[in-house]
Order: sequence, then structure tokens, then C-alpha cells
Amino acid sequence: MDNCIFCKIIAGEIPSKKLYEDEEVLAFWDIAPQSPVHFLVIPKKHIARPADVTEADDALIGKLIRIGSQLAKEHNTDDGFRIIFNNGAKAGQEVFHIHLHIIGGRDKPWAL
Ligand code: 5GP
Ligand code: ZN
Repeated sequence: MDNCIFCKIIAGEIPSKKLYEDEEVLAFWDIAPQSPVHFLVIPKKHIARPADVTEADDALIGKLIRIGSQLAKEHNTDDGFRIIFNNGAKAGQEVFHIHLHIIGGRDKPWAL
């Protein structure tokens, strides 16, 4: 997708600190972390928002949660982390390529 910052990260046109990559999914550290462990897990397929997910993407979105949780364990925060999807600018979504935040590494990470 043109002008999508996360598609550019997937394409290697913008550098990122990667934690995990396969043919469908990429995980990388957030550039402005809100807690000691804060990374993003994204599908390589461009889907703008959670509200744009279709039934065909059910397995892919489940995979984001599974990979994110495995990576949380590898970074020793599986005893407590938050998973956040923002949907829409009103909710604070800034990048319109669906992404799962994993936020952990301290008590009540990014408390609402
Ligand atoms: P949103 O507010 O859309 O849910 O979250 C977007 C997240 O992407 C923010 O936490 C922001 O810090 C992160 N982010 C934005 N641009 C970049 C970038 O170029 N590289 C990385 N690694 N993270 C980014
Ligand atoms: Zn994109």
C-alpha cells in the first residue's frame, strides 16, 4: 500500500528492529516505547484497521496474538502484558496498518 509506513517497514524501505519474521507476520520494537517491553506485531497483508478484518483473516489475526504472546515469553514478561489494538484516530490509531501492541515489562503496563 502506497504511503503506508508499516508496509515500508515490511519492504525494508524503512529500518526497524525486528524480533520475528515469517511469510505472513512481522514483529518489531516500537520506536516510542510506553514500557520496558513494547513491540508491535503486524500482518504483512495490508489491513487498515481491526474494523476492516474479514472472515478470511480470522486465522491471521489469531496468529498475531499467538506470536506476540510467544515473544512476550521470550522477553520474560509472560507473567503480565497488555495486548492493544487501536481502531480509528479517535481511539489513538496513528498508523493505518493493523498492528497489535504488546506492552509489558512492568506492573500495570500502560494502564488505562
Ligand atoms: P497506534 O497509535 O497507531 O496504535 O500505534 C502506532 C505505533 O507505531 C506507535 O506506538 C508508534 O510509536 C509506532 N511507530 C510509528 N512509526 C514507527 C516507525 O517508523 N517505526 C517503529 N518501530 N514504530 C513506529
Ligand atoms: Zn500497510
